[in-house]
Amino acid sequence: MSTDLIDPFGRTVEYVRLSVTDRCDLRCFYCLPGDYRDFSEPEEWLTFAEIERVIGAFVSLGVRRVRITGGEPLVRKNLPELAGNLASIPGLLDLSLSTNAVGLTRHAGALSAAGVRRINVSLDSLRTERFKQITRGNLEKVIAGLMAAKQNGFSPIKINMVVMKGVNDDEIEDMVEFCIEHHFTLRLIETMPIGDTGRSATSYYVDLQKIKARLAERYELIPGVMPGGGPARYVQVAGTELRIGFITPISQHFCETCNRVRLAVDGTLYLCLGQEHKFEFRPLLRAGISDAELLDTVQHAITLKPERHEFRERPQQIVRFMARTGG
Ligand code: SAM
Repeated sequence: MSTDLIDPFGRTVEYVRLSVTDRCDLRCFYCLPGDYRDFSEPEEWLTFAEIERVIGAFVSLGVRRVRITGGEPLVRKNLPELAGNLASIPGLLDLSLSTNAVGLTRHAGALSAAGVRRINVSLDSLRTERFKQITRGNLEKVIAGLMAAKQNGFSPIKINMVVMKGVNDDEIEDMVEFCIEHHFTLRLIETMPIGDTGRSATSYYVDLQKIKARLAERYELIPGVMPGGGPARYVQVAGTELRIGFITPISQHFCETCNRVRLAVDGTLYLCLGQEHKFEFRPLLRAGISDAELLDTVQHAITLKPERHEFRERPQQIVRFMARTGG
């Protein structure tokens, strides 16, 4: 069975971001409050079998890509086992992972063997002290994790950098050079008003259109393309392999091409990063929903997808933190 999942605005949903935990071993100041404790409890987490069942239903209805995310996905126990089971769902063409790379030296080999091919790593600074101020974490571990990803053949490896005025916007050229050296792809991201932390961080907001103009003074930028189905608009640095993607939810939103939904660890399906529209799968799964009913339910859930986020018009409205939704 492969019926396209088409939302009320004519967009085909073919991509699920799967959050396997809302917990994280970093505390990026724009994402989770330093003293945050309000995580979901293990009994609320979908089990691997439940996750595989829901993802299987999405795939049989036309979803082709799944990205495992969180929170920090590597803190969920036995993640490679789940990844292996997801990778073997017939019809799923692309299984990828977003991680902060803190635990990647330990898990890169098993994840690669399990069938994860593409990996995105968050990295906002290459300076030890600054990295610590932003994330409370240890840069060395992240760099070691990135090198482990490289050795294990993940391709492409994309670096996600949230660009913030006066915090790390003086480091973009350094990040460009780092990515050229290591054959990584670089994606620059605008801060979004998600949760109180994200909202306060919008005071560091930088319009990435201006950063693109700044980079064009130093590098020859030519149009670039990058497979992956995401919202980034790419340029390539002439004479190198480096592609730079600009993810601009604020300065230039891309909702009309949105092809994704997000399944949180507690079984809530969020239809939009910037809206509260959602559907709860866990109670149905635990009440013994049949496979046929599950397929109908997935189709129904997609009809709830809103047209667009309103980060600019109503920045106050998203109260859940990014780690909860699944970034
Ligand atoms: N832990 C994984 C990681 O680090 O990639 C996956 C989850 S993390 C929430 C996903 C991405 O969301 C990270 O690149 C992070 O920088 C980004 N993020 C979190 N809060 C954000 C905000 N308010 N604005 C923009 N990006 C944000």
